[in-house]
Amino acid sequence: MHEIKLTENIVAILEREVASPEVGRVKKVHLEVGRLRYIVPEIMQTAFINIPKSEKLEKAVLEIKTLPLEIKCQTCGAVSMLKDFRSDFICGKCSSEDVKIVSGDEFNITGIEW
Ligand SMILES: [Zn+2]
Repeated sequence: MHEIKLTENIVAILEREVASPEVGRVKKVHLEVGRLRYIVPEIMQTAFINIPKSEKLEKAVLEIKTLPLEIKCQTCGAVSMLKDFRSDFICGKCSSEDVKIVSGDEFNITGIEW
């Protein structure tokens, strides 16, 4: 259940963002998470609701976008999308194992709606 720890980190970041007296209440927080982070969005959203927050964050909703896991073949250059992280890390085109992860490791707050 590392979602709770990660969500606590997000709340800590947001609390710093809203610390300034010029900013108002947060409506929505957009988060992008790559598949390699092994996040269950529902657990994270529940955690976000349950973690005590300041007044400005109380009503905020956490929107989570899961980004696919993509690998790029170092042999033929093809980019393949892996359906899940238990798949073998091999090129979908030439089956080479010499692949590099191009997407799937993200963990970013991409927007805050006030
Ligand atoms: Zn290939």
